[in-house]
Amino acid sequence: MIISYFIRFIIITIFFASSNVFAFEVEKTSSGKDIKWYNPNVIYLVNTSGGPSGSLAAIEAAMKTWSDTPTTSFEFIYGGESSSTAHGVDDNNNLISFGSSGETGVVARNYFWYDVSSGFLFDSDIQFNTDYLWSTDNKPDTFDIQNIATHEFGHSLALKDLYNADDSEKTMYYSGFIGETKKRTLEQDDINGITYLYPSNYCTFAIYPSNQTFNAGGGTGSISITASSSACNWTSVSNDLWVIVTSGIEGAGNGTVQYSISANTVSSSRVGTITIAGETFTIAQSGVQQNILSINKMGGGKGKVTSSPQGINCGDKCYESFNANSFVTLTATADPDSSFVGWISSECSGTSDCTAKLDQDKNVVAIFELQQKNQYTLDLTKGWNFVSIQQPLDISIGAVLKDIVSGGVKMPQSWRFENVLSKT
Ligand SMILES: [Zn+2]
Repeated sequence: MIISYFIRFIIITIFFASSNVFAFEVEKTSSGKDIKWYNPNVIYLVNTSGGPSGSLAAIEAAMKTWSDTPTTSFEFIYGGESSSTAHGVDDNNNLISFGSSGETGVVARNYFWYDVSSGFLFDSDIQFNTDYLWSTDNKPDTFDIQNIATHEFGHSLALKDLYNADDSEKTMYYSGFIGETKKRTLEQDDINGITYLYPSNYCTFAIYPSNQTFNAGGGTGSISITASSSACNWTSVSNDLWVIVTSGIEGAGNGTVQYSISANTVSSSRVGTITIAGETFTIAQSGVQQNILSINKMGGGKGKVTSSPQGINCGDKCYESFNANSFVTLTATADPDSSFVGWISSECSGTSDCTAKLDQDKNVVAIFELQQKNQYTLDLTKGWNFVSIQQPLDISIGAVLKDIVSGGVKMPQSWRFENVLSKT
């Protein structure tokens, strides 16, 4: 989890700052989400060591001022005395303590930590700077604990300082004075601030996990939802056809969403989402594994090998990737002067179509041989008429031979010719 923190403090020196007037301002993450508590019941431990008498009651009064706002569900809860001095330590314990900060001009600090992704707060520590004098009964030259505590608790809500002089009566005005008590009570803008962040019907949701990966085969999974209140309603909606919410389409309070992921039948991976209570659950699914089928052709003849499903046309396209464990049927077609003799492979033999299972890369050899041409042995004395003689003999040789025979020239008594088509 990536965390970050803000430090907000109250200073005693007044300087001129130019800013717009805001009714209230809230802390935001770098992506623009409001920073706030997931659970609007926030517990603080208090270490009064170093503080004036009556500190605890003053701090509790400051808590109550915010908690008693009728339009909010937020509540500060006193969690007990603590001896911890771990101010500014991200330990998931919200602590109020007294100590010397060594910083001139800063009378109190509030460190708070939040998750940069969700904006949810998870730790806040307030320290009163004992380099200054404090009281709860308006002693001369002292700062009032309840006055400054109320302001610092405003930062605990994730309200920001206000700097415009027009905001000077508000609790969240950035500076305070010796003897000042006006921050003990909230102005309407302060009330609007806490109400904006934590309205009466405040609902927050968290989902776990926030993402899941699946292989191409798909599968099922579940997502747990936690809600800040059992009265908080939610819905879950798949944003992709291959992601199906099987249960938990709607609910209230804590719950579970179950889903199933269809098989991915293509080689490319894909990403889908389910929107649950406004939160995004992300599914990444890998593409189906593929294996390569390759063809080699051998022999003295020529021919073509094609595949079903399509992909190989060999030809010149003599390999293709197919889904792992799929079946691919190969068909061999010999050229006219050739014949297909058979396959060499672990998959098939003979001359019928070859079906290969691609449980791994496979290679299949197809053998084409030139056709055996018909051969005749001719007796030249018996009147053959060589009207059509194909390669390798020239067709004109028939006439030549006839002339030779008719001329009474002595020739060999037999001669081998190919593809003699007729006889007269
Ligand atoms: Zn402040």
